[in-house]
Amino acid sequence: MKKFFVPSKWEKNTETIKFATFKGNLSGNENIGQKAEDAKTKKKKNKNKKTKQKAKDTSTKGIASAPTPQNTPISKVKGGRIEKKKKNKKQKLQLTPAAAQAAVELLNETPNTSRARESLQSKFKEQLMGGRFRFLNEQLYTIDSLEAQQLFQEDPDAFGAYHEGYRHQVEKWPLNPLDRIVKMIRKLPKSLEIGDFGCGEGKLAKSIPNKVYSMDLVSCRDDILACDMANTSLPPQTLDVAVYCLSLMGINLNDYLLEANRVLKMGGLVYIAEIQSRFENVYSFIKCLEGCGFELVKKDVSVKLFYFFQFKKVANVGKVVRLKPFSLKPCLYRKR
Ligand code: SAH
Repeated sequence: MKKFFVPSKWEKNTETIKFATFKGNLSGNENIGQKAEDAKTKKKKNKNKKTKQKAKDTSTKGIASAPTPQNTPISKVKGGRIEKKKKNKKQKLQLTPAAAQAAVELLNETPNTSRARESLQSKFKEQLMGGRFRFLNEQLYTIDSLEAQQLFQEDPDAFGAYHEGYRHQVEKWPLNPLDRIVKMIRKLPKSLEIGDFGCGEGKLAKSIPNKVYSMDLVSCRDDILACDMANTSLPPQTLDVAVYCLSLMGINLNDYLLEANRVLKMGGLVYIAEIQSRFENVYSFIKCLEGCGFELVKKDVSVKLFYFFQFKKVANVGKVVRLKPFSLKPCLYRKR
């Protein structure tokens, strides 16, 4: 260790400064004598520097940074010695949860992006399917059955698309009205023959032991008869029960119920389940059914969302009877 000369006018309050090995970046032009002076002020400066560094650290908190000249250990002056700050072995990464998440995503960039793309694609697909379902649904409620038949003939995929959307819709309801109809029919003799008008995917036939004539505009299964339920190929007075579960679509309901009158035996029953919001006036609906040769047996309008009716055939009306066409309000499903 080399001592250096202290000028005499500095005799008072002077001190000998020993230099430890210093690997810092001191420029060679620096006056060594000035070091002692500097040593005192440096302590102050270092303190300031430390505060500044701390402020900087705080501002960059949450972002993982690689070692830079600013955050490598710095030297400080202690008791006249310039000491190299010991490296803190246990340096912790200070990350906010958001920055940590960003970092993880950055690390997993590729898989994460493809996952995000997949979920975006399925979301778009779902939205498109939902849109198509709502469009078809609105059409089916606002056209007559002949036009509805045409709609499905011209667009063979429409039926599948409609029923995919319909299934999603049923999942959102607290109950599927068809399940309640199934329960009611299970209480009846197994020998009774049932007509499921607008059967959709034909769930009723699979749920009861009775003989079921499943009918819809499109047949998605061998046992389903493709027809307009206003004009079926069933012989007159064949059925004991006619079921309309959410299928009174279209603007010519009178045609459907006159057909029911034709194919039902005298005293035969009609079960109807419909969405409550479709009814403007329940009594005028009952009146319309009376015009088609039916009498109300019971109604349940207490269930939120759905109304249930049971009618009985009391007269053979015949299809020649002139009835004012009647309909219910369309049921328009909201965007998901
Ligand atoms: N009853 C079934 C399906 C309800 S969706 C169930 O509860 O699961 C309504 C169904 O009625 C659709 O499948 C639609 O194609 C059918 N539909 C509407 N108008 C029809 C008509 N004129 N003739 C036959 N089916 C009809």
